[in-house]
Amino acid sequence: MKVAQNKVVTLEYQIRNAQGEVVEDTSGHPLQYIQGIGQLLPALEKALEGKEAGEEVELTLAPDQAFGEYDENQIQHIPRSAFGEGMDLQPGMVMYARTPDGHQLPFLIREVRDDVVVADFNHPLAGETLTFHLKVLEVRDATPEELAHGHVHGPDTHHSH
Ligand SMILES: [Zn+2]
Repeated sequence: MKVAQNKVVTLEYQIRNAQGEVVEDTSGHPLQYIQGIGQLLPALEKALEGKEAGEEVELTLAPDQAFGEYDENQIQHIPRSAFGEGMDLQPGMVMYARTPDGHQLPFLIREVRDDVVVADFNHPLAGETLTFHLKVLEVRDATPEELAHGHVHGPDTHHSH
């Protein structure tokens, strides 16, 4: 079976930056997604289209096709008082902000000052040219329920929503 719209794809991938360093590696921890519904970067879905289990593909993406350009406007100053009193805030920590519609938005603490915390909302890999090595492990049809939910259900995951 080939990767196509509405197929559930199981894959492993490795991401390397322009210096050749591995920045993410899912070997041994495969990921599952539904092709064609926007769960994966469009450029990756395009590269995987038509591939079968066992096939590998490697492609290099500029920031605008990967996780975006680094954007200075994504740096925000959050009042120190917005954080818990006893919180030990340190540069390099990843925290989550809750958006008005209830989503969790990760940010990286760049700097902790007396009155403000400098928060970076850029994707950790923003601004990077990245090489993706993808290996397709399995391709199957999505169930109607999976398509309705917009995500993959495991063989023994019981859930209701
Ligand atoms: Zn579901």
